[in-house]
Order: sequence, then C-alpha cells, then structure tokens
Amino acid sequence: MKVELQNLTKIFPSRNKKSGEEVVAVNNFNFTIPDGKLVGLLGPSGCGKSTTLYMISGLQKPSSGKIFFGDEDVTELTPENRGIGLVFQNYALYPHMTVKQNILFPLQNLRGADKLLKEEMLARAYEVAKLVQIDELMDRKPSELSGGQQQRVAIARALVKMPRVLLLDEPLSNLDARLRLQTREEIRRIQKETGITTIFVTHDQEEAMSISDVIVVMKLGVVQQTGKPQQIYDDPCNLFVAKFLGTPPINVFEGEVKAEKLYIGGECVLSVPGVADKAVYVGIRPEGFIPDENGGLSCEILGVDVMGRDVSIVSKNAAMLTPSVRSIVDADYSVAPDQKQIRYTLKPHKVFLFDKETEERIYFEVQ
Ligand code: ATP
Repeated sequence: MKVELQNLTKIFPSRNKKSGEEVVAVNNFNFTIPDGKLVGLLGPSGCGKSTTLYMISGLQKPSSGKIFFGDEDVTELTPENRGIGLVFQNYALYPHMTVKQNILFPLQNLRGADKLLKEEMLARAYEVAKLVQIDELMDRKPSELSGGQQQRVAIARALVKMPRVLLLDEPLSNLDARLRLQTREEIRRIQKETGITTIFVTHDQEEAMSISDVIVVMKLGVVQQTGKPQQIYDDPCNLFVAKFLGTPPINVFEGEVKAEKLYIGGECVLSVPGVADKAVYVGIRPEGFIPDENGGLSCEILGVDVMGRDVSIVSKNAAMLTPSVRSIVDADYSVAPDQKQIRYTLKPHKVFLFDKETEERIYFEVQ
C-alpha cells in the first residue's frame, strides 16, 4: 500500500498564554512512501518524527494537509478504520493476559463483516506468532518474557489484523545493545516476508541506515533530505544531514576557497573546480583521508586505535570545528610510535563544502 503525505502540517497551540508561541511540529511534509517499502523517519529529539507517525495513524489530526493510503484519502478516518498496525517503544502489552490472549485481542473486537470465527482467529494468531518466532511462548504472561520477546509479541499483535501499513515508533529503544541489533534484523525480515509498507521512527542513524529502504531526515519539523541511506550518506544536501549520518561522524573544518583551490588552515588541500572564492565549512568523512607525506593537510596525532581491518587515527588541526579529526585508514598503514605529525591527501568524493550562512552544500566537480 502506497502512503502519500501532501503538505502535512501540525501546529500545536501555545501552552504559555503570555508568549503565545505555537509549535510547528511538522511543517509542510510532502512525501510518497512506495508500496511494500520500509521507510525510516530519522532526526533528533523534537524534530517531529512521532507527530508525523501519529498523524499517519490517525491518533493526531493534521492542522492542514492530506494523507492517502493508495488512492484513498484517509485524513478524516479514525485509527480503527485506517487498517494500521502500531508498535510503540514500551510494548504496551496487557500484563494480565497471556501472549496468545494479547495477540488475539485485536481480532476479538472485530465486528460485522470483519468478524472471525474462533478457529480463524486462533489460526491467524499462531501464524503471526510463528512469523515473529514466539509460537513456543503462547501461554506465558508478558512478565515471563525478555524485552525482545515482549516487543515481538507487540509486533505480532500489530500484524494479526493484517494491516495495510505498519507503524513503528522507536520500537527498539527499550532493548539492550545486543537485542537491539537482533530485533532490528528481525523487523527487517518480517517486513520483507509480509511486504507491508512500514514506517519506522528512530533518532538512531545507524539503526535507520541499516534497515530502511528509504530514509527521511527531519529537523525542526522540516524534511531535510529523502533517499536511499547510502545515497544520503554519499551526497548530503546540507551540513546538518552530513553531520547526522555516519559513525564515526564527519570531520568539519573552517576552510577557504581561492582560485578554485580549497585551503584548510592556510594549506592547499584540494582542487574544487567551479567554486567561487569564499569562506566555507568543509566536511570530510573519516574514510576520506589518505596518509601521504606529500599530502596537503597536516594534523597533529593524538592517538591511534587499531580495529582489525582498519586503523583509526585521532588527531587535531587548528581549523577543525569538531572535537578532533578522526580518520579511518587501511591497516597496512602503520604509525611509528614516536610519530607526532601526519599529512593527508583527501579523496575528493569524501569532501563536502557548505555555505557558511545557509549551511547548504556547495557542489564542485569531482575529478
Ligand atoms: P522524540 O524523538 O523526542 O520523540 P520527535 O522527533 O518524535 O521527538 P515530536 O514528539 O513529534 O518529536 O515533537 C515535535 C515537536 O512538537 C516538539 O517540539 C514537541 O515539544 C512538540 N509537541 C509534541 N506534542 C505536543 C503537544 N501535544 N503539545 C504541544 N507541543 C507538542
């Protein structure tokens, strides 16, 4: 089921009568989520991810704009009539019911033409329990399950009504690191097997990048960029997006362009054809540095971490705007124990320039 958001806006009235300032939680969101895809809504706390999800679910009414499921305008429909499955961070299972009863619950409330026979309900419950691999736990109470198992029950409960759209609001936040990893892979598998259009809200860029077909990066209620995770990582449209995606994060420097050459701290580091003379922010991905004694950029080494395949060199440079400069280089390169300085050549496609006022990307021809 394709989901289309048209000029979706949510404005909350002010709680403070004196200041009278309203909150624009979501500002003119336009996006089409293709049928059967998993979309990650990504951004820092307060950027409007949950509000967007709640408007799609029907739990919140948009201030303006429209929501379509396929060709159907669902903007005015109640959540029950939208055909959605919702999973929250805190599972929200009924503690006094068994796993089976929790999963059956949404089916028992179906009325009219949708009403199912008891055997049909049980068959459906077992089918989804099997899909999320909890069919062995059907007679347990939620308190007898791990966090990961409880979240699977919540997903099964959301799937049992065969929703048209599955909405997941930070579903992994309450899980420990190992379970987070395992459960996110599970969610991906379940989504692929069912083919249900899924919207996944998270503030964790790694999580969004690893499971989404498409991500939407938001800031202060405004969509910054949409696209495939790798595409956005390789080609961020502004400094916010460049900084938000990537671990370790992008390194940012003060820079200057003069006669189509980029200078960092007075050193010429790269040719940037087509860019006018101006002061810029320079973003360099950690994998964008090549140790080279004739390289243009010099840094003072602070530490070296060997991480199997790669070496991570932490250094500093007077023009850096991030706390340190972190480069990831091939393990073949060895840093001498008494080495204090390192020089780098830069990989042009890993270097991004940004306007200092607007923080928008300034493009140059990569040679
Ligand atoms: P988080 O990751 O912290 O959940 P989020 O990106 O999901 O954040 P939202 O919960 O959508 O953000 O909130 C977006 C903005 O709208 C925030 O500034 C928030 O304070 C505000 N907001 C959310 N709900 C309400 C409300 N009911 N009344 C007033 N303001 C609200």
